[in-house]
Amino acid sequence: PRPSTMKRSWRSFISMQRFQVMRRGSMFSGLPCWMLLSIMAASRLLAVPMALVVGGAGFVGSHLCRRLLQSGYEEVICVDNLQTGRIANVADLLGSPHFSFFEHDIVNEWPVSGALHEIYHLACPASPVQYQKSPIHTFKTSVLGSIHLLELAKEKGARILFTSTSEVYGDAQVSPQNESYWGNVNPFGVRSCYDEGKRGAETLFHDYHEEYGVDTRIIRIFNTYGPRMSAEDGRVVSNFIVQALRGEPLTIHGDGTQTRSFQYVSDLIEAIVRTMQDGVPHCPINIGNPYEISVNDLAERVLHMTGSRSSIVYKPLPQDDPCRRRPDITLAASVLGGWKPVVGLDEGLSQTIAYFRHLINKAV
Ligand code: NAD
Ligand code: UDP
Repeated sequence: PRPSTMKRSWRSFISMQRFQVMRRGSMFSGLPCWMLLSIMAASRLLAVPMALVVGGAGFVGSHLCRRLLQSGYEEVICVDNLQTGRIANVADLLGSPHFSFFEHDIVNEWPVSGALHEIYHLACPASPVQYQKSPIHTFKTSVLGSIHLLELAKEKGARILFTSTSEVYGDAQVSPQNESYWGNVNPFGVRSCYDEGKRGAETLFHDYHEEYGVDTRIIRIFNTYGPRMSAEDGRVVSNFIVQALRGEPLTIHGDGTQTRSFQYVSDLIEAIVRTMQDGVPHCPINIGNPYEISVNDLAERVLHMTGSRSSIVYKPLPQDDPCRRRPDITLAASVLGGWKPVVGLDEGLSQTIAYFRHLINKAV
């Protein structure tokens, strides 16, 4: 557990006062609206929040920790069990007085002393290869992990965000998928530990908000890629790039006509930050890039961009592998201040290829 002797500065003191004031909403109930808004605006100027990022040493989490620190957060606490995450992802942050790392499995409770304003629940392996290695633990991470973090949010009066997934739509029968679609998910298969764990966690977020008034946020992330993915992760973009750079055959599952819509990580991080702002609704919001491409075309694109002469081999399609996936991001655009992805596939792939090229060259 986090030591209670964590450093505190005058900035954190101010922010603690600010958040305690903000939470005591009833104190201000008699004030005119303009005065309330001025108080909120003034306190926002003083805001130096403290955030807990669970799963912060993973691919997305490590980008998020960086972004929060760059935005001037007083304290970013990263918690991770290092199942698929790596210390290397946050190694350069360890020297910062505003950053701390704790190795902990969120399936078990994690008491936090002192103030906490924001919780980001990113814990859970995202790659089918990784989350199927220990399915019961994957399920517990989403369900028990969410209960523990929601209880923490309730205790601290913190805002809490859950990273759900497009997998809640399963093998979707409609395309593109919008948030009102309930999905087509197999509850009794190899992907169920992930899909149903995430769906169960969404239910918990819904109910903690309804029953206890916890300030919740949910985003449904569609396939996201970029630097700091692990070479061993197993997802298609990192697999194809690593295989191409190593001169190994690219492994296409099935006939490669299944589609995905790939989002570059910086677009996701921008959406996460916006989702945590005031006034964003508690309902699930799709976050992804609607540009849809087949796995075959992705393989060709990677071969072309890396200049690789790797061959292609076809492997069996895994059970319950969705045929089509493409987000409808109308809701995100309307509630996140016009957010939309700005990094195209070619640009994102070239950044990711550069990252893996460096990683592989360093290893030899
Ligand atoms: P990732 O596997 O790189 O990161 C997950 C992190 O959570 C890792 O650092 C891992 O060690 C940690 N973790 C797993 N179980 C834990 C536990 N019980 N306790 C503490 N830490 C634990 O995956 P990612 O791509 O960075 O995904 C981050 C989150 O976003 C995940 O929850 C994932 O389900 C969600 N998401 C990601 C995508 C995507 O395409 N990247 C798509 C949909 C949803
Ligand atoms: N895939 C593939 N080759 C690989 C890894 C994945 O053809 O080496 C396929 C996978 O079967 C799926 C798609 O690529 O149809 C996306 O897979 P990924 O694991 O990246 O994420 P998913 O969207 O399935 O969770």
